[in-house]
Amino acid sequence: MNHFVYREKELYCEDIPVRRIAEKVGTPLYIYSHATLKRHFKAFSDAFKGVDSLICFSAKANTSLAVLRLFSNFGGGLDIVSGGELYRGLKAGFSPEKIVYSGVGKRIDEIDYALETDILMFNIESLEELDLINKRAGIIKKKARISIRVNPDVDPRTHPYISTGMKKNKFGINNEFAVKGYKTAMGLENVKIVGIDCHIGSQITEIKPFVEALHSLKLLIKNLEDYGININYLDMGGGLGITYNDEAPPQPAEYAGAIKKYLGRTKLKLILEPGRVIVGNAGVLVTKVLYRKSTDVKEFIIVDAGMNDLVRPTLYKAFHAIKPVVVSGEGEIVADIVGPICESGDFLALDRYVQRVHQGDLLAVMSAGAYGFVMSSNYCSRLRIPEVMVRDDKFYVVRKRQKYEDLTRDENIPSFL
Ligand SMILES: *Cc1c(COP(=O)(O)O)cnc(C)c1O
Repeated sequence: MNHFVYREKELYCEDIPVRRIAEKVGTPLYIYSHATLKRHFKAFSDAFKGVDSLICFSAKANTSLAVLRLFSNFGGGLDIVSGGELYRGLKAGFSPEKIVYSGVGKRIDEIDYALETDILMFNIESLEELDLINKRAGIIKKKARISIRVNPDVDPRTHPYISTGMKKNKFGINNEFAVKGYKTAMGLENVKIVGIDCHIGSQITEIKPFVEALHSLKLLIKNLEDYGININYLDMGGGLGITYNDEAPPQPAEYAGAIKKYLGRTKLKLILEPGRVIVGNAGVLVTKVLYRKSTDVKEFIIVDAGMNDLVRPTLYKAFHAIKPVVVSGEGEIVADIVGPICESGDFLALDRYVQRVHQGDLLAVMSAGAYGFVMSSNYCSRLRIPEVMVRDDKFYVVRKRQKYEDLTRDENIPSFL
């Protein structure tokens, strides 16, 4: 359930017609619904009521400061994967003791920044990283709280690019090495073992892989206890999927119920890192039809949003529903909905049934709140597009559209030219 619905023949975001926002702000643009963000966050955190838990929103799904501030206001934590996300998280108001840091390639400067900030924990992804973090913590004179990201070797049955918990993936440390890692960590002076972590993939639409991962982690925790290694935090990562088209992923309550059940009675504090499930269906990308073009074999709808604005269709062959912002009743055509970029991969949808639109009509690309704006680029010197947050009958531009000057601001022409 979200707050993008038709009233009469107009698509609304909460109590404002999408068309009106597009007219004021221009296209393309991202629109997020405050009520939906709130509802999704609450649904997720309420689902874990009754167990000691911290919901660390996965920043990389949507790093808009306004979105982050909202979740920080709700008492949430943050899962980061870079120094830049740490910077944003702190700016948005998250307290460091609610920030966990994942990622296979943490650089020295990023590690130092996180140590100085005194974040809750580092999710360690290799033994070399463990060693480096111990060294840096010694130099900075801090104790690094760590958990090891275990690769439990379960198949999340999702797109290969977003599957992260199988032996062949670059993420985490497999069970045997994890024990070795914990034993090593025990002997390190500047490291404190506090947790265990996994994140098996994204857009997962069944309960089973999560339960398998939890099972694997529980065995490992028991195993570690035998070596006198005690764990306080159990971080289950993120990955719960959403409905883009006809997927029927478990609801947060069902997901939480399964985890709680398999966890049993425990002193462990649970950490969750949801991203997509909170923000995915809370945002849309609004784009305008620039041209129509017919060939012998295809109908093309050329719109003003391209793969640089939303890369998921071309990167993952992802499906995004595309809806008319104003319903005309003219019936449907089958068309490729493509952007202005000089690549054949520049599409939002292929062979899609869509309303018979005309030049100037608006289309809403649904479910674009996660991995949308954050993956956008300036390719083809296209300006990054605005992000708007709607609350009731008002909207707020939370990121303005770039200007041409922004494109060259960081560049220099050397004096010999
Ligand atoms: C991307 C990521 C998440 C969030 O994944 P979603 O599928 O968006 O929930 C959580 N944890 C880690 C470590 C990640 O890399």
